[in-house]
Amino acid sequence: KEYFDCPLDSQSLGRNTWSFLHTMAAYYPETPTAFEKNNMQSFLNSFSWVYPCGNCADHLRKHITKSPPTLNNAKDLSTWLCNTHNKVNKRLGKPIFDCSAVFERWRDGPDDGRCDFS
Ligand code: FAD
Repeated sequence: KEYFDCPLDSQSLGRNTWSFLHTMAAYYPETPTAFEKNNMQSFLNSFSWVYPCGNCADHLRKHITKSPPTLNNAKDLSTWLCNTHNKVNKRLGKPIFDCSAVFERWRDGPDDGRCDFS
């Protein structure tokens, strides 16, 4: 019998999506062009309409309207996204993440080298 992975439930969809979003923000340019800023703005707007969890997308749209993404550089965007994720964490009773560690978590890895695989 051929093996298929199971469809995602909302938890693993959320986890995988946050991984993508935080990684995307961590690798956003240091000095983005107007084109790159526009692309990111459009992506986040569109994403907030198409994310396949109605409630989550609803909350995200309201959040984007109230606190629009900061698109100046990778640090600003990563911090905005971290705060956005923390809003969801708070709503769900999950631990609040320390946003000063966002690059360590999503781009550089910890200093002790445990995430260096090369
Ligand atoms: P996740 O919250 O998925 O986090 C994954 C990893 O990210 C963590 O292990 C941690 O290492 C890291 N992390 C945690 N917080 C931060 C942060 N602030 N900044 C950077 N890194 C961090 N679920 C609902 O039930 N209701 C909702 O309204 C809802 N809205 C969502 C909106 C969006 C845009 C997304 C992508 C997901 C949403 N979810 C929602 C799903 C929910 O946020 C979780 O993804 C899901 O509950 C699984 O949680 P988790 O404990 O595995 O960790």
